[in-house]
Amino acid sequence: MQIGILKESGDRRVALVPKGIEKLQQDGLQFLLESGAGATANFSDADYPDTIQILSRAEVLQQADLLISIHPLSEQELKGLAADKTLVALFEPYNQTEVVSQLAALQLQAFSLDMIPRTTLAQSMDILSSMASIAGYKAVLLAANTTPRYFPMMITAAGSVKPAQVLVLGAGVAGLQAIATAKRMGAVVEAFDVRAAAKEEVKSLGAKFVEVEGAAEDQDAGGYAVEQSEDFLRRQREAVQQSAAKSDVVITTAQVRGRKAPTLVTADTVAKMKPGSVIVDLAASTGGNCELTENNKTIVAHEVTIIGDSNLAASLPQDASVLFSNNLVNFLKLIIQEGELVIDLENEIVKSALISPPQSA
Ligand code: NAD
Repeated sequence: MQIGILKESGDRRVALVPKGIEKLQQDGLQFLLESGAGATANFSDADYPDTIQILSRAEVLQQADLLISIHPLSEQELKGLAADKTLVALFEPYNQTEVVSQLAALQLQAFSLDMIPRTTLAQSMDILSSMASIAGYKAVLLAANTTPRYFPMMITAAGSVKPAQVLVLGAGVAGLQAIATAKRMGAVVEAFDVRAAAKEEVKSLGAKFVEVEGAAEDQDAGGYAVEQSEDFLRRQREAVQQSAAKSDVVITTAQVRGRKAPTLVTADTVAKMKPGSVIVDLAASTGGNCELTENNKTIVAHEVTIIGDSNLAASLPQDASVLFSNNLVNFLKLIIQEGELVIDLENEIVKSALISPPQSA
């Protein structure tokens, strides 16, 4: 079987790094690399094992049996593929609802890496967590770089400076990493989440958990948050407003799978924030947690800088690629045996990730 690794467009990461190929070497497996695929993540073609073939994109698309990328191929490229190909990428079928039927219509087999369950067993393949953790870290660095204030308390001969106040909305993987990073840099941190389990995690990182009574939870939601009632969201927005008004930095990460991100920071709240404050909205691509966020843009409103970026993992391309690649290798080892694809639908991880052809429940 031939495995093709494609170059991303508009993203500096690469799905498989040279060490990943070494770990996957099996009899009967051949690797094809689109020339320059790893260059923006600091992996040159020459860094890959000698056994790999360096080809043009068109050649990889035509020759590979299994095509690997981070972002899905364009509609036009998908239409140009022979029907027997298998694709592995982050298809986000929860947000891109038409993608499953489109792949099925083209008779393409596809695994979506974001559909791997968030279970202990699948932890070594959890790309969402690896990338969210980087995003949380980079969100704090971006905010620190943008705020006109110090993060840590400073006692100098010229006077003392109070530490920055950071508010983190959503204490999942990205939020917890943002809390840990901001704490390490000396900020005073508060955080909100709707999952009760988040409270202890937030407190164990030395941050204050701001509680809003009456959040809905569903044990069957696979650890994910569920949509909240309008009454809860209204009370939460009021509590957020109080915290945000005294904060220098607000980092928002709140997501509800398959739905628009909840609006937690209203335009009115932004207007009440201190001039020079910064909001980094990691939920920008699903509508944003801040009412004024514009996806993939940095804007200034009411003297507050609002950065809308859901792909911050791509801004740390080298380490992000290594972690993506490690997770991907663990998944590929599950579906490739002795150089061939072996799809075991009894395996929950394989079954969950296989989005085309669609599986009956
Ligand atoms: P996510 O990106 O879907 O959401 C980010 C956070 O936003 C979550 O903590 C969520 O509870 C929170 N949120 C949603 N609506 C909110 C609202 N109105 N107000 C405040 N916060 C809100 O989540 P994620 O980081 O991908 O994590 C999802 C779940 O998976 C978590 O429970 C996490 O602990 C779990 N997880 C488990 C494993 C494992 O066991 N291997 C690995 C990673 C994550």
